[in-house]
Amino acid sequence: MAPQVKVAIIGGGPAGLGVAIELARLPFVDWHLYEKKPVISEYSSGLTIQRNTWRMLEHLGAAKHLHKSDFFRPANGHITQHRDGRTGDLILAAETKGSTTTAPHHQPCRAHRAILQLALLKEVDQSRVHVGHKLIRVEELPSKRIRLIFETGLSDEVDLLIGADGLRSPVRDFAFPEHSMSYTGATAYRALVRTSDALEVNGMLPEVIFWHGTDSKWVYTCPLGGNTFEITCRIIEGKDAEGDEQRLRASWGREASVPEFLAKYAEFCPPVQQLLQLVTSVQQYDFFAGPRLESVVARSSVALVGDASHPLSGAFGAGAGFALEDAFTLAGSLVWAFGGKSSADGHVRSRIDAALCLYDKVRSPHYADLYGILDGYGEAEQLVAAQALPPSGEIRARIESVWDPKHNWIYYYEVESTLARAIQEAEDGRGQLRFEARL
Ligand SMILES: Cc1cc2nc3c(=O)[nH]c(=O)nc-3n(C[C@H](O)[C@H](O)[C@H](O)COP(=O)(O)OP(=O)(O)OC[C@H]3O[C@@H](n4cnc5c(N)ncnc54)[C@H](O)[C@@H]3O)c2cc1C
Repeated sequence: MAPQVKVAIIGGGPAGLGVAIELARLPFVDWHLYEKKPVISEYSSGLTIQRNTWRMLEHLGAAKHLHKSDFFRPANGHITQHRDGRTGDLILAAETKGSTTTAPHHQPCRAHRAILQLALLKEVDQSRVHVGHKLIRVEELPSKRIRLIFETGLSDEVDLLIGADGLRSPVRDFAFPEHSMSYTGATAYRALVRTSDALEVNGMLPEVIFWHGTDSKWVYTCPLGGNTFEITCRIIEGKDAEGDEQRLRASWGREASVPEFLAKYAEFCPPVQQLLQLVTSVQQYDFFAGPRLESVVARSSVALVGDASHPLSGAFGAGAGFALEDAFTLAGSLVWAFGGKSSADGHVRSRIDAALCLYDKVRSPHYADLYGILDGYGEAEQLVAAQALPPSGEIRARIESVWDPKHNWIYYYEVESTLARAIQEAEDGRGQLRFEARL
């Protein structure tokens, strides 16, 4: 009989809900989830459910709660169009997020974020979910257990703390106090309009389209499920000076002025302008990011999952999938350490240590690869900017050099086989796990 392990999950986004579903399947885990919001909820606009995300949703039992009317799946297999946003000309129609070998029910689709959240929530044992509890302090006890203190006065003491608390993770602040986040200089404006209104605009299509402008601006348009149409617009506003302005930036949605928003996209062609005129309310998202963490685990008792583990600011449009892959790997690592052939002794601490090291061995290299791709994007952007091309040349050069489908492997990545290989290597004595070096 494996010993009991007490676990706290902080955060009820895709990562936290994914971990909650996984841990409920492990009889040796006594888990509780704490969320600061008064209800488990999701706002903002759309997201892509990628191929790897679908696979994880099936594994979690949540895919069955997603119905065809809940999402938009382009008939062409999610071919993303890249257009010159000033002229409307099609530059590239890239099969960026689908493949001919992908099963039809795994083809990517766009949905409102709340749809994914609800599908996951339906599989969670809600008697263990505690909303309205904001984590404000974390302490490591001499026993190496972790004490959590919430704003409500509630406290808890656990063997394992799982930070699923998003991009601005307080758990990460505790685990890696030297790590810091800052505004990247890029901002997104996100709005929803009715699909029926959007498709009345001459030239607007029921497709997934990036309309590119100069200086790395773009407008992204596509239907979501139902009668909802997404508009997301990016602009590079540049880094703020140190001080007040930096503090005013908000990473997760605040109301912005519609006229000021519209003025930023004045260079775009008539279909885009007319679409933007339908917007009555717009949310501003300032992109925050931080350097890659060397490890997604700390202190032999903390694991980071989802955005907390890789502060990438939504890059790649697959963060929910990454979060569910983290949940899968962490649960698989616990199963191995508590019931498999790990070399950990029978103590809870030693087994948690083994699980965290395996989790880190699988996920840290993955995130290192993703950061590497982003560095490549940055270099490509700089090369385009350095050429000082006329607008149409600049837009074409950026599409051709930055939007390269060679990175599509991200969406076909199979975390199951990577975990199985890591376990095999650990058991064969190959691929030394970090904890074995530490013990
Ligand atoms: C513009 C944009 C577009 C994106 N597009 C896509 C896409 O197309 N496809 C995709 O898969 N992903 C996309 N993403 C990324 C995706 O949104 C994230 O990766 C995903 O939401 C991460 O889930 P999470 O659970 O890690 O974090 P979150 O969803 O941020 O959840 C964290 C939770 O922790 C809670 N919390 C925070 N602090 C505390 C505290 N102190 N105490 C208690 N609770 C706390 C929060 O309230 C929140 O509920 C996009 C992101 C952005 C910004």
